[in-house]
Amino acid sequence: MKKALIVLFALFACALPLMAGGSGETTTSASVAEARPTLNEDGTFHLPITDEKTTFTIFLNFNNMPFDPNWAVWQELEKRTNIRFESVISQSNSNEDEAFNLMLSSGNLADVIGYVSAADLESLGRDGGLIPLNDLIDEYAPHIKALMEEDPAFAQYATSTDGNIYFIPKNQTMNNAEFWFIRQDWLDKLGLEVPTTVDELYEVLTAFRNEDPNGNGLKDEIPLFDRAGWKMPDEYLYLWDTSIEFYVRDGKVTYEPLEENFKTGVRNLVKWYQEGLIDPEIFTRGPKGRDTLLAANLGGMTHDWISAVDYNTKLTSDIPGFKMVGIAPPADQNGVVKERTMRYPGVGWGISSQCEDPVTVIKFMDYLFTEEGSNLMNWGIEGVSYYVDEDGQKQFYDTVLNSDQTPVGYLRSIGALYRVGMNQTGEYEIVSTNDEGRAVIELYEAHPEWYDQSQPPFADGELDMKYFPEDETRYERIMGQIQPYVEEKLQSWILGTSNFDADYDAFIKELHTRGIDEAIEINQRAYDFYIESSQNI
Ligand code: CA
Repeated sequence: MKKALIVLFALFACALPLMAGGSGETTTSASVAEARPTLNEDGTFHLPITDEKTTFTIFLNFNNMPFDPNWAVWQELEKRTNIRFESVISQSNSNEDEAFNLMLSSGNLADVIGYVSAADLESLGRDGGLIPLNDLIDEYAPHIKALMEEDPAFAQYATSTDGNIYFIPKNQTMNNAEFWFIRQDWLDKLGLEVPTTVDELYEVLTAFRNEDPNGNGLKDEIPLFDRAGWKMPDEYLYLWDTSIEFYVRDGKVTYEPLEENFKTGVRNLVKWYQEGLIDPEIFTRGPKGRDTLLAANLGGMTHDWISAVDYNTKLTSDIPGFKMVGIAPPADQNGVVKERTMRYPGVGWGISSQCEDPVTVIKFMDYLFTEEGSNLMNWGIEGVSYYVDEDGQKQFYDTVLNSDQTPVGYLRSIGALYRVGMNQTGEYEIVSTNDEGRAVIELYEAHPEWYDQSQPPFADGELDMKYFPEDETRYERIMGQIQPYVEEKLQSWILGTSNFDADYDAFIKELHTRGIDEAIEINQRAYDFYIESSQNI
């Protein structure tokens, strides 16, 4: 009923121009939308997108936050565009997967669908539940189209293995993800320089271990620690340019445990662990490990997100002089500086086959990529959450910086930084961190060459590529046999329960037996498609 009314209003509003144009055909809301340009003649975005308020249903639940049309940012979007979204999941829903499956089995799809898994969205697309957006982007979404042309990673992530675009990704404009952090006050106390190579790092960590930088007379320091050790057991292998993952070198997918660097990396890791340079509880410490070790004045160095510098403020009264600073990644054994953690585009939202007016929706999606739309999605509302200072720089108000939530948490509570197709600029991180945080973000962003852009996306240290449907099941089956085996072996070598060099030949043989060669081939096909899809836009 509501929708019928909207169509009527839209028809009415456009009846005159259509008649003047001599069209005698019956028309739908979609053709009304098609008749309106996305842009004005001067290149600005044509607002509002529809003359009458138009409502679409939406399925989205990001981090247990079901979409809420009452969020301030979305109220503002509604005011500007005349487009409103109504959530098909209740505000109390806390199980995204269950709600998604329930929607699919009901056969009633929301007009717009976002979901945590790109693979599931694409599979819904291949089954006809989401429509391909390629032509709609081409005709009605000039900002998205331009970004696809200038940012290969964005285009690649958007494109499914059948060549269709089923969702508009959430893009990331900064490279940096994690950084190397070290206790500057410990370096100063021991008269040490910042380590710039993996060998210098070994010397510094050894001094942290032996020379009592926390000054309590006990040899209790834990030089190198990591709260990700429980889920990314191979993170320190990056120091020797290796890992327990696939990695692309000169366009060829390799599996790193089969490569030479792996031997160097594991042998060093075993030695470092034996000598007490690495947290003895690295595999069991858990996500709270950083809090625990820093608050106890035991941790010396880690690889982590920007929030690592927050302890400079948090711990300043408990640990006088406490200072964590970001440093460049130490050069590996070949003298190469590389930072393996990177930001990649992530999943966003698509349009279902039951949506009656996809043209209007794609225009709305495009609006989020305009400067005004992007400001709203990253900064919230001007005059409420941010202002522009005398130098023309955007600044958050104290309501964002000093609320009882983190700045990101606050921005999400008003509907900004949500999991939709947008450009996440990351400026909120620069503005809301402290001087040490800003310094390390600037350092890493000033060195794009540290980031190997030829690598396919990794999420939490795991490959996140798109497979052809016939490859996907096979790949999962093979890696289900390989990955736990490799993680278990790596742990046993580091913990000293088995010997790496004694195990090595049998280990490699076992990888071949378990099908690693086929897994490499499947990844090569996926990677070749990944590269092609940036060239076909
Ligand atoms: Ca000590």
